[in-house]
Amino acid sequence: MTDPLFDGLTQPQRDAVAHVDGPLLVLAGPGSGKTRVVTHRIAHMLRSGVYSSQIVALTFTNKAAEEMRSRVERLAPQSTVWVSTFHRFCARLLRHYSNLVGLESNYTIYDTSDSLQILKRSLQQQEVSTSHATPEKVARAISWAKNNMILPERYEANSANAISSIVRDVYPEYQRQLRAANAVDFDDMLMLVAQMLQENDELRAALDERFRYILVDEYQDTNLVQYLLVRSLSQQFPNLGVTGDPDQSIYGWRGANLSNILDFEKDFEHVNVVRLEQNFRSTPNILTVADHLIGHNKRRKKKSLFTDLPAGNPVRLLTYATSHEEAHAIALRIASQVAQGKRRPRDFAIFYRVNALSRSYEEALRQQGIPYMIVSGVEFYHRKEIKDVLAYAMLLNNPRDDVAFTRVVNTPTRGIGQATVLKLQVHALDNGISMLDAAREAGMIDSLNKRGAVAVAKFVALFDRLSLKINEPVEEILGAILSETGYRAQYEDSDDEEDQSRLENIDELLSSAREFDIQHPEDGTLEQYLEDKALVNETDEFDAELDRVTMMTLHAAKGLEFPFVFIVAVEQGLLPHDRSKDSEAQLEEERRLLFVGITRAQEELELSTASKRDFRGRRQMTVPSTFLFELPKEEMDFQAHLAPPPTASRPQWDDVHEIPEDDYSQIGESGDFSDQTPSEEVPGFTKMLMTAADMVKGPQSARPKSDPDRF
Ligand code: ATP
Ligand code: MG
Repeated sequence: MTDPLFDGLTQPQRDAVAHVDGPLLVLAGPGSGKTRVVTHRIAHMLRSGVYSSQIVALTFTNKAAEEMRSRVERLAPQSTVWVSTFHRFCARLLRHYSNLVGLESNYTIYDTSDSLQILKRSLQQQEVSTSHATPEKVARAISWAKNNMILPERYEANSANAISSIVRDVYPEYQRQLRAANAVDFDDMLMLVAQMLQENDELRAALDERFRYILVDEYQDTNLVQYLLVRSLSQQFPNLGVTGDPDQSIYGWRGANLSNILDFEKDFEHVNVVRLEQNFRSTPNILTVADHLIGHNKRRKKKSLFTDLPAGNPVRLLTYATSHEEAHAIALRIASQVAQGKRRPRDFAIFYRVNALSRSYEEALRQQGIPYMIVSGVEFYHRKEIKDVLAYAMLLNNPRDDVAFTRVVNTPTRGIGQATVLKLQVHALDNGISMLDAAREAGMIDSLNKRGAVAVAKFVALFDRLSLKINEPVEEILGAILSETGYRAQYEDSDDEEDQSRLENIDELLSSAREFDIQHPEDGTLEQYLEDKALVNETDEFDAELDRVTMMTLHAAKGLEFPFVFIVAVEQGLLPHDRSKDSEAQLEEERRLLFVGITRAQEELELSTASKRDFRGRRQMTVPSTFLFELPKEEMDFQAHLAPPPTASRPQWDDVHEIPEDDYSQIGESGDFSDQTPSEEVPGFTKMLMTAADMVKGPQSARPKSDPDRF
């Protein structure tokens, strides 16, 4: 008899899928079916009598969660298993138990820029000088503390580190102001839930019982808080099943801790460990390249991975003269494959290290008329007009939200100047009230002049009128905001093209509200809509069904697969990223990032560099990545020439590769790559900036110098 849950699986995959009770660790390389095992296992648990409500499956991106949910639904129709990101899971718990951590259930989730406003205000309030560190750096240090479960009162400054003493002084005030605004930052959501579980054993035990079965995919990327969360929910019911690949851990900079997965067997008794060794995704040629690269990491356990797939084409490595030529050649290559009917646009992906690189590839694809999508979902919600409109909604939902108040009180302009806002802020802080409440008392604030007080009173009246709509469908609430505040009108009256595009974006926001209303006919609240938007992340815009080339960062590519992958700008300073240059541990993480990129490819993989790169408004000489010297040259294709593409506008391949000797002197000039002076980073490396074929003959000294073990 056929069984869709087990048919076609390998024996180790079946073992993992059949596991119901007790801790399970699936440790395996890329493309070995880890994610597939998670979904089949959920379906199998349901079939074995476990209730949907007892299972929660956690992962990192909305897209991965959505994908998993739909696969489970396909295998087990009508199931209502909670598949979520860590952040959404915690956001929901926090709404429910907000009072335990000093919040009200209508709390606001601040994005990075909103949190930064609060931080700046806290720095001012505490009179902390930031001459040694930007607020952004302080924010990162606080985020690090939160990810490591260090509460403000327990934060200890390290005397050797100037930022840490700033953090010590400002972290408690920052936290106080967040709470006063009934708001959390991203890191709070996880930290507060973990804290709540630590401090309240009754609640912990109840939730442990409720979520008897917890599954975590990509477990190698969990940080301490996430680890504490799943651990504390797996005490009486240690049915925690985790899947992961230590070689794909790429979130160290966000506090991810590899020892979570490496120590899993120490944390739990009687762990069922399953290793999957067959790769179903990539050709042997691609796997060999990936394997060679990752073999250069010292801190890892060796894994074997084999595949039965045909060898496929060799992996290509190309050096172009300029980034413009690189982008153009890639676009032509895609265009020609599509024109020949060999592939469709959606078969291709272009990965880069940082979003800022996307522009030239985008332009090249556009020139060739190839449809594409850039996956960077958060950007839409960072646009000024979107943030403005949502800030009104946030203030309606949570009148204590001072960041939202400050944003909208004079937007569009209504005669409430900076000085007035500052006076309201002082009055609010002095009296321990929100800025909106301070505004209600405007008439009594001596320092405010009459005109200012009247303008503020009008704003309060406007706010109160809008508040009456709070229980209407979200689209209507947003519609009322747009018309009654005059927000839409200010752009409608303008001929400016940018203003017209703002209107289009606003309409797009309204459609998102309409969609939300349709999806939640009964239970859709403004609060829930705002939570949804606050937790949008990078991968949300990725839609595998659309027939478009995908462009995304290497980080966003995790867990995905594409028939044809281009990894571009594999250059020093970008990959490995500049900031990893002082730490061997970070360099290893960068190597893992490239490994993740390589292992997304199913059939074809092309790595490329450009000798000159236009980036962030400058033209820079580049140095190929040290990682390229770690690849198995014998098994790759370094041919400098590609077959001429069948279009008139083909590039001049003959002059693509050679760089005049003189140009070497420019390497390491000021700009983004200035710190990457090759002779410092890798002895004798400058000489190796040559043709692709020369590149692989690089001497052994191409290996970077080791740094003290920081891991
Ligand atoms: P990553 O580490 O990149 O997240 P993974 O281990 O989660 O990879 P999956 O995405 O689950 O791997 O699987 C990789 C590909 O192999 C998918 O296309 C999946 O459908 C396919 N696959 C997995 N197991 C099998 C199998 N037993 N037979 C055929 N195809 C399989
Ligand atoms: Mg996976």
